[in-house]
Amino acid sequence: MFEALSESLESAWKSLRGQAKISESNIQEALRDVRRSLLEADANLQVVKDFIEEVRETALGAEVIKGVSPDQQFIKIVNDELIKVMGETNAPLAEANKAPTVILMAGLQGTGKTTATAKLALHLRKQERSALLVATDVYRPAAIDQLVTLGKQINVPVFEIGADANPVEIARQGLAAAREQNVDTVIIDTAGRLQIDPEMMGELATIKKTVKPDEVLLVVDAMTGQEAANLTRTFHEEIGITGAILTKMDGDTRGGAALSIRQISGQPIKFIGVGEKVEALQPFYPERMASRILG
Ligand code: GDP
Repeated sequence: MFEALSESLESAWKSLRGQAKISESNIQEALRDVRRSLLEADANLQVVKDFIEEVRETALGAEVIKGVSPDQQFIKIVNDELIKVMGETNAPLAEANKAPTVILMAGLQGTGKTTATAKLALHLRKQERSALLVATDVYRPAAIDQLVTLGKQINVPVFEIGADANPVEIARQGLAAAREQNVDTVIIDTAGRLQIDPEMMGELATIKKTVKPDEVLLVVDAMTGQEAANLTRTFHEEIGITGAILTKMDGDTRGGAALSIRQISGQPIKFIGVGEKVEALQPFYPERMASRILG
């Protein structure tokens, strides 16, 4: 299985082939190749450095396993460490003890937040869970209409009171409506600016305080690569996230952003977006992502 892990790392494995055991001197080249491969996958430099150190320590401390060659063992260590960094198992969505479960969507504009809001609602509907979507993005022209249209498409109600209302007030009323209607899950779509700005963060923090979400999902565009690290750090420090959705994984990115999100926030990626359609949402599986990142 591990033989086929990564073609681009063929030379890394080769440098260990025929060696009696993994050692400081023969591991150097292999580590350099892994580092290069992760950077090519657009993972963040600091995240990669930390990762390589982990692999080095684990590999040098590893017992020699009988019948397993050092290159095989090294491949397994790299793969296992990648999976470990990304969370080992698929993390399910939070579910409140008492309905409604409240999910707050956060992220920059254009990342696919509104689309992901609808995708999640459809995902819940398929599990016989009802949802109410709340449109608080009063800044982006047509964001409310976009959510309403998506809601109609998937047959999920959307709470909106227009673009003149205050986003915090919309969220509060949306939650009240969800309680009244005995809805299972309320998903609040929030405004995203092109760049992180203090006003946006302040508003998001106030919405969070008001609705006390069970889940704060950061929507990250996989194509942003290295930048995903800064984005995650800022949102996590200022708002506190409980998970992430990595969108646009249908693009040609190898997904290095995935490595940063968990490493920096300690929170798991829960879903990936794999297309523009509302059905294009998949649970995040760390093993699959590990193979993709290694290329
Ligand atoms: P928002 O500004 O964050 O709410 O972003 P939108 O939900 O409006 O999405 C921005 C653009 O990205 C739209 O054209 C979406 O169709 C597209 N989009 C969203 N998610 C994905 C995805 O997973 N894959 C692809 N290829 N496009 C996506």
